[in-house]
Amino acid sequence: MSEQVVPDPLEFARGHKCLEGDIELIRLKRLQESLTSFDGAVHFKLTGFVNEGAAPGLRCEVGGSLKLLCQRCLEPMDYPLQIDSSMLLVSEAQALLDEDDPDAPDCIPIQRDMQVVALVEDEILLALPMAPHHADDVCKGRPAADTGKLHPFAALARLKTNKE
Ligand SMILES: [Zn+2]
Repeated sequence: MSEQVVPDPLEFARGHKCLEGDIELIRLKRLQESLTSFDGAVHFKLTGFVNEGAAPGLRCEVGGSLKLLCQRCLEPMDYPLQIDSSMLLVSEAQALLDEDDPDAPDCIPIQRDMQVVALVEDEILLALPMAPHHADDVCKGRPAADTGKLHPFAALARLKTNKE
C-alpha cells in the first residue's frame, strides 16, 4: 500500500504533512503473540513537525481496541489503545548515541521510504502493558476484596500451620 510509506521523512516533517489511515491487525505480525483476536484495525495519524530548536520530528497517534489475554484469569480482555508519541528525526549515528542516554528525547533514525506499518507496530509494542489484566471488579481470577474470602496462599499457610 503506497500511501503507508513516507518516502522522505525530513521533507514530511518540515512540510508539516499529515498521513492518516487504518491498519488491519492481521498485518501486525509482531503483535500476534500478544493478541487473542485479529479482527479489526487500528487507526493511525502521523504528523510532521519542527520543534522550537528547529529539529524535525514526527508525532504518531494510534487509536483502536485490542484483544489481549488477561494474565490473571486467562480470559480475553478489551484493551483500548491510545498512543500519542512524538519523536525527533535524527541520523543513524545520533540515534546510536542517544540509545545510551536516558534523558535523550525519543528519536528515530532518518530513513528513506519509511514504513508506517512498522513504525505504528513499534509504538503499539512499546505501549502494551507487561502483564495486562482486567479491572479488579470484573476479573474472574481474583475474588472481590469484600467477599471476606482468604487468599489461596493464606489458606494454604493455615493448613500447614494446623498440620504442625
Ligand atoms: Zn481477568
